[in-house]
Amino acid sequence: NGSAPHVASPPLVRKKLMGYVGFANLPNQVHRKSVRKGFQFTAMVVGESGLGKSTLINTLFNTELYQPKEVLPPSAERPKTVAIESISADIEENGVRLRLTVVDTPGFGDFVNNEESWKPIVEDIESRFDSYLEQENRVNRQKIVDNRVHACLYFIQPTGHSLRPIDIEFMRRLHTKVNLIPIIAKADTMTDEEIINFKDRILNDIRHHNIHIFQLPTYENEDEEALTEQEEIARKIPFAIVGSNQLVHTPDGRQVRGRAYPWGVIEVDNEDHCDFVKLRQMLIRTSMEELREHTTAVLYENYRSEKLLGMGVAQDSSVFKEINPALKMQEERTLHEAKLAKMEAEMNLVFQQKVAEKEGKLKQSEEELYARHREMKEALEKQRLELEDKKRRIESGRPLTPEKSATKRNRFLRT
Ligand code: GDP
Repeated sequence: NGSAPHVASPPLVRKKLMGYVGFANLPNQVHRKSVRKGFQFTAMVVGESGLGKSTLINTLFNTELYQPKEVLPPSAERPKTVAIESISADIEENGVRLRLTVVDTPGFGDFVNNEESWKPIVEDIESRFDSYLEQENRVNRQKIVDNRVHACLYFIQPTGHSLRPIDIEFMRRLHTKVNLIPIIAKADTMTDEEIINFKDRILNDIRHHNIHIFQLPTYENEDEEALTEQEEIARKIPFAIVGSNQLVHTPDGRQVRGRAYPWGVIEVDNEDHCDFVKLRQMLIRTSMEELREHTTAVLYENYRSEKLLGMGVAQDSSVFKEINPALKMQEERTLHEAKLAKMEAEMNLVFQQKVAEKEGKLKQSEEELYARHREMKEALEKQRLELEDKKRRIESGRPLTPEKSATKRNRFLRT
């Protein structure tokens, strides 16, 4: 009946082991293998210049990965479009290697007209998907380089109002293509209460515009501790961030990463001061793998199937036809009919050409006949006139000139 052969799963029997077998070591095998291969992670930062993007990346990975950008004098020639720049670094912690790539988008939101600031960013993210898709479709897929963006940190200006049109437009355009992580930049410029209210407004706007920001997934079999940790992280979104790689002294004599103000020190790594620790926990300690997985399984997968469908590839239909002879016969019949129709059309065309050719020829000979007829008629008319002239002369008694009459007679005899 054309349905796929059903493979019955074997009956499941639960058995107790009599002794040590060794598969409890499987997770360790996976662990060793992935440590050997190393990890890849690509983060994108988006936001107006001066919001602390480079500072935050350096703070997150505790390196001077990012050189602060040269501040251009007001007279300098500035680029007119959003640029895409990326830098990679291999960093290592306890023998685990991570190739970190940061994609920066200088120019975003920096122009008088920022209407299409999101466009080059969408194009960049899509071209990374395209490059992955192209590699997947190669004959040799041994060495696929994954340049897809796994997380996008979107920096919101600490205005205390609500999201601006440019923020909403950007998130709406990007939320189906990248894991969005909203961040309130330079949170040390706002009071605790202002931050709480600002976060509420941002979340309302995000809900109102149906924007999906990255959410930590919760699994049923997760332990209590991990669940609480995830809930605490989720409660902090959008993260209010203070960035700094500078070491400063606190009044009680500690040396911390932070920003020193006349009224005190703001510590980056102090959870009472900002959400930096929670952001780092999510981005690096607990959910880097989730971000990568969500990119592959949901965001890339959607892009891929839309793209292939757009190209007219109906992925599974060929397999379906293999197991469905009726469908195959139907397709062959359609092909055959199309072939017949094409032949008929070709024959018709040849026939019409021949008819047109014949008609052309007939018309031509008809015209020739007419022309001959006209010529003969004219010659006869001329003769008639001459004869009449001759008759008139004879009747009036005027003799014809011998030479003229001879010529005329001759011509008359010839015709
Ligand atoms: P980018 O243009 O977005 O990469 O911004 P930078 O990281 O170059 O930072 C611009 C300026 O803001 C620098 O002077 C930083 O020291 C400062 N800055 C960075 N992060 C913070 C922050 O969290 N709070 C405050 N108050 N200033 C910051």
